[in-house]
Amino acid sequence: MTPAPPHTDVLVIGGGSAGCVIAGRASVDPDCAVTLVEAGPRGTGPGALGLLPVGPDSDLVWRYPAHLSDGGEEALLARGRVLGGSGEVNGGYFVRATADDFTRWPRSWSYDEVLPHFRRLESDPFGDRAWHGDSGPMPVTRTGEDELHPYSAAFVRAATAAGHEYRADLNEPDAAGVGPVPLNAWAGVRVSTATAYLVPHLGRPNLRVRTAARAVRLVLEGARVVGAEVEESGRVRVLRADTVVLCAGAVGTPHLLMHSGIGPAQQLSRTGLPVVLDRPGVGRDFEDHPEVTLAYRPVDAPPHSSGRAVLEVVLETDDLELRPYTAPFGEAIAGVDDPFGRIGVALMRPRSRGEIALRSADPTVPPLVRYRYLSDAADRAAMRAGLDLARGLLGASGFGVAVEHPAGAVGLGTSMHLAGSCAMGSPDDPAAVVDDRCRVIGVDGLWIADGSVMPSLPSRGPHATVVMVAERVARFVTGLDA
Ligand SMILES: Cc1cc2nc3c(=O)[nH]c(=O)nc-3n(C[C@H](O)[C@H](O)[C@H](O)COP(=O)(O)OP(=O)(O)OC[C@H]3O[C@@H](n4cnc5c(N)ncnc54)[C@H](O)[C@@H]3O)c2cc1C
Repeated sequence: MTPAPPHTDVLVIGGGSAGCVIAGRASVDPDCAVTLVEAGPRGTGPGALGLLPVGPDSDLVWRYPAHLSDGGEEALLARGRVLGGSGEVNGGYFVRATADDFTRWPRSWSYDEVLPHFRRLESDPFGDRAWHGDSGPMPVTRTGEDELHPYSAAFVRAATAAGHEYRADLNEPDAAGVGPVPLNAWAGVRVSTATAYLVPHLGRPNLRVRTAARAVRLVLEGARVVGAEVEESGRVRVLRADTVVLCAGAVGTPHLLMHSGIGPAQQLSRTGLPVVLDRPGVGRDFEDHPEVTLAYRPVDAPPHSSGRAVLEVVLETDDLELRPYTAPFGEAIAGVDDPFGRIGVALMRPRSRGEIALRSADPTVPPLVRYRYLSDAADRAAMRAGLDLARGLLGASGFGVAVEHPAGAVGLGTSMHLAGSCAMGSPDDPAAVVDDRCRVIGVDGLWIADGSVMPSLPSRGPHATVVMVAERVARFVTGLDA
């Protein structure tokens, strides 16, 4: 070990969507020394909205082995590994959880409670002012009706002709129907929380950001966290802190907790790890949205423009989300070989629950992500209904001819919305990992602010809601809110 660096007040582990919010907000107070450690690189700055740097050659992602369904094929799950995290490499879809989604969260996270934080995080000049903010760090834009890709426009016409309501603002609390996707983007460029919350404040003397710095395990003294062991350039040293906020993401956070002895005792012992605190909920019962894509041969496809969102409009109906992508994945993701057009059908309230499973006592060995998708008969029936709906809308919109036969024409995949692997709940509930202030139950000074804490996955993509949660946790950590 090398000599210890100075003490810090708040140590943020993981500089992704949530971590950049926590570090940016906590360092507003010049008397609060904040250190953020991020395993990935600084990155090259904001990327074009229509290109996702998550292909096989990308050095900006973690790749976790995954089983999408029991007995199914092995897959590799990508998550961002760069300042900005998954929000730095994602599709830019920024739709809020609905008011109904929050009825499944603790009462202190009702829609009335969370709305001010959704408003605080954004600058969205569109729509009813009751729902929107004017001066937050994240710009929210939508593709204008006259700028829509011809496929998006045709999909909207087909969906409204089939009786689905047109919703100009899918970030209204009860929004369902077809409409333009709110995007965390400006002028065709994705805006991550790194760009919005952190980079403008890197000059603050009380803020230190260390990239290529990976937390290996937490350091505990009794029931209190006092820092973390962090590996940089092959050397491990302890960063000491009064408060540690875990933001390593819904795979990274439970993995780090388990390697620190906090997790399901049986699994830790089986893997040869010491048990410091038996918390059965760590890594258990996460949710994600299974997606099956319907392939088609495009008709009159304009060339893909990198500044155009790959998903400009969606249809939200009956807990399904239909996604008419504007480009083949082969054109949006370097290194992916897929020439077909695709409509995605995602289950937005799936019944299946997954697990993050340790494979080794070595913290550098990534865990296995077991999804158990479509293990429930109701999920399979809902997916079949969604595919029928997608086939009908594809036929009516006329922008492609369905591909029925080649292997992979209809393929099970994931939306990459994994959340809820360290869920929020009552301290008496053994399945809960954090309380409703996102403090780890049983450990003083330790918080979680990322997608892990969601007690129930929103029926929309999670990014906007992850940023909202981090906004709120920043206020708990800094004492702005009790
Ligand atoms: C390819 C892709 C596309 C997606 N598209 C969308 C979309 O369009 N809309 C949407 O709503 N959602 C989308 N999502 C999901 C959304 O981006 C995530 O839910 C959200 O960004 C998660 O934020 P987070 O802070 O929980 O984790 P992340 O943003 O993943 O941040 C975790 C960070 O912690 C770092 N880290 C991990 N372990 C350690 C460690 N031990 N030490 C130090 N650092 C560590 C990681 O490198 C990473 O930077 C997508 C996800 C992916 C991967």
